[in-house]
Amino acid sequence: MLEIVRVPVLSDNYSWLVRDTGSGATMVIDPGEAGPVLDAAAARGWRIEAVWLTHWHPDHVGGAAAIRDATGAAILGPEAERVKIDVLEQGVGEGDRVMLGDQQAAVLSVPGHTAGHIAFHFEEAAAIFTGDTLFAMGCGRLFEGDAAQMFGNMQRYAALPDGTKVYCGHEYTQSNGRFAVSVDPGNDALVARMAQVDRLRAAGEATVPTTIGDERATNPFLRAGTVEEFSRLRAGKDAFKG
Ligand code: ZN
Ligand code: FE
Repeated sequence: MLEIVRVPVLSDNYSWLVRDTGSGATMVIDPGEAGPVLDAAAARGWRIEAVWLTHWHPDHVGGAAAIRDATGAAILGPEAERVKIDVLEQGVGEGDRVMLGDQQAAVLSVPGHTAGHIAFHFEEAAAIFTGDTLFAMGCGRLFEGDAAQMFGNMQRYAALPDGTKVYCGHEYTQSNGRFAVSVDPGNDALVARMAQVDRLRAAGEATVPTTIGDERATNPFLRAGTVEEFSRLRAGKDAFKG
């Protein structure tokens, strides 16, 4: 089993502290800063032995060196972004399998937000860490890739089992949801979800993780049927003031 702790960092990032309960092996995904992550581990008596990175952006990598220095953790991330991640030790890519204790994760290449972006999928635990590709009711901006790539990523995510939990890199749900409702106002599941998200945010609570099933029901980017439709949605969200 995996125990997964959400650690809010910076203004709206989430780092994820992940523990294999059988072996006690613990790692952190995308530590944008070190302090809150080290505190969350210390509060539980956990020793972080690895840092896993989804992409090179500083809001995902910024705490990695300090965590390594404090704990001796090994740093793993996208081989394709090695030149941009100076702390990277072990580089991985599509088809690689990485272990956390006895739990295995498949590495997916999911380019578009950045050219070498990866995701980590724990198939047995039904959990996927999507970084800045799939968000609750949204998807990542295209900084180093094109709509066809990100559409392909969405298709891969949409094919995962509905119960798969999705752990993404930001609390963007409310603004994503406002855009989603604007393009799909007749979607009852979406409207209901948005009301729940508004309640959670008003109470200062997080809205992730989400699930593939909820995203298939409400996320316009995951629901897009063609790359053209996806591309229109992505451009619309980039311009959306909601
Ligand atoms: Zn990013
Ligand atoms: Fe980010």
